[in-house]
Amino acid sequence: MLEKCLEILFPQEYCSICRSPGRYNSKQPWCQECMDQMIELQCSGVNCQRCGKYVQDGSGICADCSREAPEFELARAVGPYEEQYRIATKVLKFMGKKYLAPQMGSMMAEKIRQEPGFGKIDLIIPVPLSANSMQVRGFNQTELLAKQIGKELGMKVECGVIHRVKDTPHQSELTREEREKNLLSAFAVKEGVDLKGKSILLVDDVYTTGSTARECTRVLLRAGASRVCIITWATGRGF
Ligand SMILES: [Zn+2]
Ligand SMILES: [Zn+2]
Repeated sequence: MLEKCLEILFPQEYCSICRSPGRYNSKQPWCQECMDQMIELQCSGVNCQRCGKYVQDGSGICADCSREAPEFELARAVGPYEEQYRIATKVLKFMGKKYLAPQMGSMMAEKIRQEPGFGKIDLIIPVPLSANSMQVRGFNQTELLAKQIGKELGMKVECGVIHRVKDTPHQSELTREEREKNLLSAFAVKEGVDLKGKSILLVDDVYTTGSTARECTRVLLRAGASRVCIITWATGRGF
């Protein structure tokens, strides 16, 4: 409520992404030009049928997924983790501009509507932040995205179902092998939560190596979930 009032009193006077002048708010946080470029970027390659990563050829499955098939059913993203998608992620996450979340969440909901593979979803669960990041940032951007998706698709969102068992070093500072090792048993499902037979949509902001998605899927399935699908705002490019 307070945020809404502040938004009316002090509208954003530049595009959140390219900073060109204008009047922007949570309904329209960036300019039409940025939006057009984002739509164009969505079609800038072929997506792996399983993990949704952008791949160079149209063989269907990326190298990672053919090496080890993921346990999640499918992962999809709105666009590649580049240009406007990358900037929006950073502005939301590191600059704390929460008013970007409704638009980003809306575009994620639209992606889900377009992809029949998501099927019937019983519950939306956001990937948790580490206690460190939560302390620094004060909010979890994936919760904001998950709530918007839930609102638009009329689905239940539950935060706090998965928690981090230990604080792990920042993923971006690690090599691929270190990342996977780092994530081993980094997540757990809260005790007493009943996920039996539930079809789950896991929400994260960015899909990079897929290790977070794979590890969260593993703990959800172990806790009784029947299937897990993943939606992220952006995804990487692979081979
Ligand atoms: Zn712009
Ligand atoms: Zn893949």
